[in-house]
Amino acid sequence: MEPKYISIRGARMHNLKNISADLPRNKLVLLTGLSGSGKSTLAFDTLYAEGQRRYVESLSTYARQFLGQMDKPDVDSLEGLSPAVSIEQRTTSRNPRSTVGTITEIYDHLRLLFARAGRPHCPDCGKEIRSQSIEDMVNALSLQPEGTKVILLAPLVDGKKGEHRDLLENLRKEGFVRVRINGEIKSLDEDITLLKNKRHTIEVVVDRIVIKPEAEQRLADSASTAVKLSGGFLLVNFPSENQETLFSEKAACIECGRSLPDLTTQLFSFNNPKGACPECTGLGVKQFFDPQLVVPDPDLSLSQGALAPWGYRSLDSYIGQMIKALAAHYKFSVDTPFQKLSAKAKEVVLYGTGTEEIMFRYQKERRRLTAQTSFEGILPQLARRYQETSSAMVREELSEFMNEQPCPSCQGARLKPEALAVRIGPWNIFDLTLMSIDRLLLELPAISF
Ligand SMILES: [Zn+2]
Ligand SMILES: [Zn+2]
Repeated sequence: MEPKYISIRGARMHNLKNISADLPRNKLVLLTGLSGSGKSTLAFDTLYAEGQRRYVESLSTYARQFLGQMDKPDVDSLEGLSPAVSIEQRTTSRNPRSTVGTITEIYDHLRLLFARAGRPHCPDCGKEIRSQSIEDMVNALSLQPEGTKVILLAPLVDGKKGEHRDLLENLRKEGFVRVRINGEIKSLDEDITLLKNKRHTIEVVVDRIVIKPEAEQRLADSASTAVKLSGGFLLVNFPSENQETLFSEKAACIECGRSLPDLTTQLFSFNNPKGACPECTGLGVKQFFDPQLVVPDPDLSLSQGALAPWGYRSLDSYIGQMIKALAAHYKFSVDTPFQKLSAKAKEVVLYGTGTEEIMFRYQKERRRLTAQTSFEGILPQLARRYQETSSAMVREELSEFMNEQPCPSCQGARLKPEALAVRIGPWNIFDLTLMSIDRLLLELPAISF
């Protein structure tokens, strides 16, 4: 039966003076008292420390190294305690990198789960990627019925244009006899001429073997040769069944050539460059200069100060002259309300003229400047200034025109594609973090690993 109380006997951590207490389980319990009376010592350094310690102790040595383990608290006995998480009161809670999962450290456990039990898939084509040792490959082939004929191939070129003359010559020199080019086996004695601007797929025939127990060593040697030649792959053709199996030593997708990093706990951390989405550096959102904030009142014309980052500035200013030059070049008026401007006019003002150069004259007192130049656009200019400035004040000012959107690369999942392509059952780690704890408890144990 589940205990009704958490029984503390003889707690003496820090300033606790041999405290004994029974706390009701499954209840919200508050510890109150004067500052310095030992509330935190009892809650964090005793109860949580022991709950966490017992839990971590129940895990494997491998798992333990990733989870901080606390020292055994000074207490005579603690009964009725469950695995514990602690949520500390933190003043840094505005950190956008924190989530309930990271603050409670539950996410650490998910990362560990994925590093150990996750199945990698190709981020491009979605195919499951399995890495196998040469021994695995030989074992798999040895399971074939005795007498099965197999051709062992090393994939060398996957649909690449060119004559591949050096490659073929090297294979001849190394003593190989046959190659398969675009699915057709050819003798290397022949003169092979490939069309330069056609794509070719080339595999070298490493061996032809009939499966039987005595052939196991030869199978291993040839598989190893193929893996070495191809940089990790062995392609096995079964001529009688007209079937092929591709083995991969590395975690890499043969179709896309995409190789996957090792599954480590860092790969699933959005606070680590090994795992973070490179586009948003793991924040899940991207800040961008928002046209709607840059032009908050589209009823204003450019001459009336429609562009908020500039405030109201006279068209005699440098930037004003640039806008005038734009207007002259693209034939729009700086007195037209911004929203009534043509799409093209709005585009060049906001996003720039691209490679198109415009004639630009600037005169202020005795300074005179004539230039033929492209205009970078208000939004790119703001982004550049934001990047280049070292002043926190300027950045603060500029951030008024910024908005957030989900990162276009990870859609808010914060991790790089390789990490999100690792799944347990149908889910990647981000899918699991979206679930309620109730649903997670229901779904996760139902998965067959
Ligand atoms: Zn792929
Ligand atoms: Zn992202």
